[in-house]
Amino acid sequence: AQLDTLDLVVLVALLVGSVAYFTKGSYWAVPKDPYASTATLNGAAKSGKTRDIVEKMEETSKNCVIFYGSQTGTAEDYASRLAKEGSQRFGLKTMVADIEDYDYETLDKFPDDKVAFFVLATYGEGEPTDNAVEFYQFFTGEDVAFESGTSAEDKPLSSMKYVAFGLGNNTYEHYNAMVRQVDTALTKLGAQRIGTAGEGDDGAGTMEEDFLAWKEPMWAALSEAMDLQEREAVYEAVFSVVEDDEKTPEEESVYLGEPTASHREGSPKGPFSAHNPYIAPIVESSELFTVKDRNCLHMEISIAGSNLSYQTGDHIAIWPTNAGAEVDRFLEVFGISDKRHSVINVKGIDVTAKVPIPTPTTYDAAVRYYMEVCAPVSRQFVSTLAPFAPDEESKNEIVRLGNDKDYFHEKITNQCFTIAQALQSITSRPFTAVPFSLLIEGINKLQPRYYSISSSSLVQKDKISITAVVESVRLPGASHMVKGVTTNYLLALKQKQNGDPSPDPHGLTYSINGPRNKYDGIHVPVHVRHSNFKLPSDPSKPIIMVGPGTGVAPFRGFIQERAALAAKGEKVGTTLLFFGCRKSNEDFIYQDEFKTYQDQMGDSLKIITAFSREGSEKVYVQHRLKENAELVSELLKQKANFYVCGDAANMAREVNLVLGHIIANQRGLPAEKGEEMVKHMRSSGSYQEDVW
Ligand code: FAD
Repeated sequence: AQLDTLDLVVLVALLVGSVAYFTKGSYWAVPKDPYASTATLNGAAKSGKTRDIVEKMEETSKNCVIFYGSQTGTAEDYASRLAKEGSQRFGLKTMVADIEDYDYETLDKFPDDKVAFFVLATYGEGEPTDNAVEFYQFFTGEDVAFESGTSAEDKPLSSMKYVAFGLGNNTYEHYNAMVRQVDTALTKLGAQRIGTAGEGDDGAGTMEEDFLAWKEPMWAALSEAMDLQEREAVYEAVFSVVEDDEKTPEEESVYLGEPTASHREGSPKGPFSAHNPYIAPIVESSELFTVKDRNCLHMEISIAGSNLSYQTGDHIAIWPTNAGAEVDRFLEVFGISDKRHSVINVKGIDVTAKVPIPTPTTYDAAVRYYMEVCAPVSRQFVSTLAPFAPDEESKNEIVRLGNDKDYFHEKITNQCFTIAQALQSITSRPFTAVPFSLLIEGINKLQPRYYSISSSSLVQKDKISITAVVESVRLPGASHMVKGVTTNYLLALKQKQNGDPSPDPHGLTYSINGPRNKYDGIHVPVHVRHSNFKLPSDPSKPIIMVGPGTGVAPFRGFIQERAALAAKGEKVGTTLLFFGCRKSNEDFIYQDEFKTYQDQMGDSLKIITAFSREGSEKVYVQHRLKENAELVSELLKQKANFYVCGDAANMAREVNLVLGHIIANQRGLPAEKGEEMVKHMRSSGSYQEDVW
């Protein structure tokens, strides 16, 4: 009978969950990722240009389109790299296209002398990226309907050749689901895939090498299918970068780091979104750890008067600024320090090339605000610099790094070098001959970072809390500390706010007042991203939360909300938190605050802790979960929602497994049945993850 009840709950919830999933785009109006923003600003949609890709390719004499579905910019970067390689090595007439800029109903006209590439990232629980939602729904929906009226049985895509590569993470259950499903759908519609459908694995840390290993046989197969002749690749700039001696950086038309034109003009206008951040005041900031060598920041960010809103469980994105020390290093390595404040105009040489950074700007602003110069560097990008090396010896070294995967791993990847550090390790001479266009092409746009909001919108609707641990790690093998871009910037802001005489952490020297001093008074550009990570609408329903470390962030919000409801006399269900950290007196964040909530909530708030470095054995949240199997099982029977937040790679996986065991053991079921139940809980929305 117990099983029946749970099964029924699962079934009903499954139904509700599916409806929620399939209406997500319209219901919650998921904001587009910042990468899509360049598309809407410059792309087809806004300029009233065609949304018909075949027409576009005819118009611009292209025979190869590379579509990307990108969330954090990596898929877009791979798309650009494929476009460049296709054009330089094989003479293809390539163009890169944001997949949401075009219609899919006319793809059955795609002619057989052209090829379409699909570079598709899988996001979260096997979902498409924001810019690929419609594409995904079109091809994987029940009836694929093309404009010409041909149906799926007619094999409407039989003249289309395509190439597919997916970006995924094997620590998630639906590994590379996006590329797999799209590949199946296209094949079913008669399209002919060239090469294998490649899969890159971020979880194993082999994305780049998977991509490199996949693309060589793919190019060989494509050369054969399209009768292409390989030639010696010669670098051709995608952008023209022209210094404008007439203009000074002070002129109003020059972008000095502002995200949009209205920001540049000094009158930022809403609506604020992933394309247009709000410059928000940080009203309060403090340190949560009691140890000296690690930092965890608590910040209160005001959105009052911005028209932005959030709900408990949503995410806030912080738009970072690169550290001055790294900006200086980059400009020095490429020999542009002296002209860092020169105004540059950046234009696409080809009409289909989209300029990824605002222009006109300066070298300094481009590197500080618009380019991800601190990220790990890829082997392919390093090898593109060989022809521009300052001397023969450095050139040979770069060629060797480019050709020898293991050598590159040892010398660059293991050292956690950024592009500038990598080149510094090769020679102390500057790489003055590298065209700036090549740097814009090869380096991602600086990405906003997401944080799980750690406050309740019911309690403080105009103020968003974040809880961020400062990334400052010595990775195995690396000789220097790797400093996270955003969290160290936030640390500097916190230090300035709290009157620290030298606010720059570790000498990183941030331009803390922002472009034209617009962030003075401790402001930071932000946008809000709505999530499906939500409390049950009925507060009397029990909840189980597993959130070690900063994984506790959204649960602070959940508990804050339930405590406020309890204080108002509402009936609040059992609110069980599993929290873990190293030591109770070092990094048990919000410890005192939780005591206050306990006063308001009484027995309905239960916090179970795991301190990994206090006893002789390491104890983690999943161990505590197991120890409390009976309680967990009982709450699940009372229809508790189960939430996990924090580390995706290990913790979330373990918790998932342990929960399966608990359900199986407590109900006397075989282990597979327990796993299956957890799967059902996931798809029904009663098991929710917010992991990174
Ligand atoms: P980055 O510069 O992005 O670096 C991140 C890591 O990459 C480094 O620690 C390092 O391991 C590696 N790395 C960087 N540069 C190199 C290099 N040159 N070579 C090799 N490795 C390198 N974080 C929180 O603290 N709290 C939250 O509540 C929270 N919520 C999140 C919610 C979501 C939905 C997501 C997606 C993420 C969340 N995060 C949260 C993580 C957060 O977004 C950031 O990833 C994190 O703060 C690090 O950002 P950063 O810019 O400081 O570090």
